[in-house]
This record gives sequence, C-alpha cells and structure tokens, in this order.
Amino acid sequence: MISRENPARIAEIVGHVPVTGPSGVDAAVRRADAERRDWSALPVSARADILRERGETLAARQEELATLLARESGKPLADCRGEIGFALAYLRWVCDHAPRVLASSEVDDEAGRLVVSREPYGVVGCVTPWNAPVILALLKLAPALVAGNTVVLKPSPLAPLAVGEVAAALPVVFAVHGGAETGRALAGHPLVRKVAFTGGDVAGREIAANAGAMLTPSVMELGGNDPAVFLPDFSLTTADYERLVMASFATSGQVCMAAKRLYVPRGRAAEFAEAYVAAAERVLVTGDPLTPGVSMGPVVSAAAADRIRALVVASADRGGTAVPLGRVAPGHDPDAGYFVTPVLVTDLDDAAPLVAEEQFGPAVPLLVYDTEEEVLARANAGELGLGASVWSPDEERAFALAGRLEAGFVFVNTHNRTGMSLRAPFGGVKRSGYGREYGEEGLLEYVQTKVVHAPAAFRPGGQGMAPGAYPGTG
Ligand code: NAD
Repeated sequence: MISRENPARIAEIVGHVPVTGPSGVDAAVRRADAERRDWSALPVSARADILRERGETLAARQEELATLLARESGKPLADCRGEIGFALAYLRWVCDHAPRVLASSEVDDEAGRLVVSREPYGVVGCVTPWNAPVILALLKLAPALVAGNTVVLKPSPLAPLAVGEVAAALPVVFAVHGGAETGRALAGHPLVRKVAFTGGDVAGREIAANAGAMLTPSVMELGGNDPAVFLPDFSLTTADYERLVMASFATSGQVCMAAKRLYVPRGRAAEFAEAYVAAAERVLVTGDPLTPGVSMGPVVSAAAADRIRALVVASADRGGTAVPLGRVAPGHDPDAGYFVTPVLVTDLDDAAPLVAEEQFGPAVPLLVYDTEEEVLARANAGELGLGASVWSPDEERAFALAGRLEAGFVFVNTHNRTGMSLRAPFGGVKRSGYGREYGEEGLLEYVQTKVVHAPAAFRPGGQGMAPGAYPGTG
C-alpha cells in the first residue's frame, strides 16, 4: 500500500493506493487487450462523444479534484483548478479535432484505389510524473482513447490520487500503482504496443530500453533546462516581470518547461534584478496550498528539498549570491512541510550545477552576457533542449534568435504555461525526448498508418503487369 502524505503538512495522510505487482500489471494489460477490439470498432466520432460526456462529468467535480490534487502534490489550489480545467479543455479539443485529423483518405483514379487509414496501436502503456499528474496523463489518455487504443496508466506514487479519479471516470483505462518496478513491468509487457512516458531522464532511458527490447515504439517527454534570453532592447512591464517570476516559481519550480536560466545583457543586469525582486515581492507568496493568496507551496518530498538546498549551498561555494524572493503567507509554518525558500542566484558561471543541470526547484540563476552570439552558444550548451524563450519588443529579431535555439518549443515574450497552446505541438530535442504532445501531432502519436491498395493494372479491366515489374516504369 502507498500512503501519500500532504507535502505541506507531512503529518497528514491524504490517501492510499494499492501497489500493483508484476502479476497485477499483467492482468491489467490483458484486460486492456481484451477490450481493444470492441473499443476500436466504434467510429472516431462515437468515441469522441463518449469522452466528451465523461469530460463534462469530471468538470462538475473540478473543485473536489483540485482540492485533492493540492493536498497530495503541494501545488496551490488555484494552480490545481487551472490544471484540471486545462486538462479538460484539452480533452474537448481532442474530441473536436480527432474526427478530421484521424480521418481515412481514399483516392480512386487511373492509378488505382488507395485507402490510407489511421489505426490504433492496441494497448498503450503510460507512465507519468507527479508534478502535473492530471494534464500529463490526459495528454496521453485523450488522444490514445479517441484513436481507438485502450490504456494502462501508471501514475507517480507521489501524486496518484486525483489522476486515479480521472482515470476511473474514463472508458477502457486501467490504472496500476507503484514505483519503478510497476513501471518496468508495464513498459516491457509484450502486449503493450506503444509506451508514453513523461518524467526524468534516468527513468526515461530505462523505460525506452525496456520498450525497445520488445520493439515497442515510445514517446518520451523528459526534462529541460530552459534558457530565457533577454535581448539588449528588452522592455518589460511590471506585469511582464510578475509573469516571468511565476514562469520560474510556479509549482515551486518543479515544471519541465519552467524558465530555469535567465540570460540578461550585462549593462542591464542590475535594473533587471531590482525589478525582478520587486515583482517577486508582489506575486510570490509561500504557504499552505489551500490558503487563499498563496502562489507557491512546498516541494514534493524531503529528498527534493534536500537536493535543492544542496544546489544553493554549492552555488554559494562557487561565489554565487542567493537573494531570497517573495513573502510568506501570514501564520505560515515552514517546518510543517517540505518548504524551500525561493531564491534568485547571481554571480554564477555556466558550469555551476545550478546552471548546468535541471534544478527542478525554486532556485533560479541570473546570468549576464555580452553579445548575441555568445548568449546563443551558452543557451544551446548542454544536453537538454525542451523549451526556451526570447524577450524583445522587436518580434522579428526575437523570432530570428528563436530559430537558432536548440529547443522543441520557443516562447516569445513569455515562458512556461502562459505560452502554451492546445494546437501547438510540445516536446523536446536532444536528450529532452522525442515525440510530441498537444496539437495534431499529439493525436497522430497514437495511430499508425495502414494502406489498402488495388493497383489499376489488376482491377477489373486492367492491363496487368509483367511479373516482378516496378510500377510506372513502362
Ligand atoms: P521520474 O522520472 O522520477 O518518474 C516519472 C514516472 O516514472 C513515475 O511514475 C515513476 O514512478 C516512474 N519510474 C521511475 N523509474 C522508473 C523505471 N526505472 N521504470 C519505469 N518507471 C519508472 O520523474 P518525476 O520526478 O516524477 O518528474 C520529474 C521529471 O519529469 C523532471 O525531469 C521533469 O522535467 C520531467 N517532466 C517532463 C515533462 C515534459 O513534458 N517533457 C513534463 C513534466 C515533467
């Protein structure tokens, strides 16, 4: 049994889920496999109608689910409402667009009759993280299900409860629970035909290897170390600075596409830091996730808190200066949970671990640069390439630099969730993963192309072809 504590009040157990061992995973995959033919036999529009209706049922439970998510994840309640609302909006988007995107095409002409259809894989195995458990699961479940797949979902043991409720409300989804062992059994199961993973690179490599051993295709959404590049002409309003602060500190910095390295022109660094600290004072309020007005809760676990504090200590050892940010909510007790003081760290070099690694926590380095070529090279250094941002009032200049950044998604004049779009494919380059979520590409991840072809030469009245001839060569 997994007992999940509230990371903001560690003495409080929010709920329990049973651990699914390898035999339980096998049973879940076999049940999903037994359902796949009936489910895939429905037309796309019929599956979309069923999913849309289930989405409406979940929408009516938004407040209950958001509260549960806040208590198990430590994310502020407003964030949890937003995540669930966005996840259900994505489900609706999928239902609206799938009939067109997944439609078969047919041509019947002098060359023959050719039908190209989009077929489901069968059972999709999904392994998801805790930091945005509902949206990151629905980004897989919604397109997989509408396309006619059935799903076995393994959420993170650090936030299995709200997403468990969502999974239970959807058709042909089977949830299994546990940690790496449960995930391994799922990714390597011979009846799983596609694996979808979001999480860190350590688990990602092992899951991809296990899937690869079965020749099971996978989609991998991994970590990032997003640079935010402020061009010399940057011009930020107070609202821009406030948005930028939350682009780094929402979910206590534990977001794959958070702004994780801030690159500012040397001559404007002091002005930037002053306005940034002032903005944080206005919008960054640490406290219990259920307290109104709180915008940052704890981090997810004691291990995460220790890791992030160690990164800040290591930064000080390298000459960095940590500036505490924001305020604490009235009456807040930082010892009640896994709270970490948010900091902006200045005076670091790019080799410092806080800069070179994904920090995944509330500590952000402010780095200075001298030339555009230099900042481009520094932004592109490293193995990760998930998101990035460019900030400038000159949109042409921003788009030109964006085109040269090694990232799967470059935001212009914003960063993180405010820059997302349901229609825009999201995913990484380099070691940040492969495959895409959102948009039409996110739907097409869950189908494979099938062709039925009657060449004109062999249709009734056709002219035939010499044995072994290549078509179209006379
Ligand atoms: P994690 O990799 O520790 O865990 C993710 C999931 O994998 C969990 O369900 C976990 O139980 C499971 N797992 C762990 N080891 C496994 C193994 N060996 N075999 C099978 N399953 C295994 O990640 P996390 O701490 O939950 O999430 C943080 C990471 O996720 C960060 O690196 C973050 O950047 C990344 N992330 C990426 C995206 C994206 O869209 N690219 C989105 C959110 C988070």
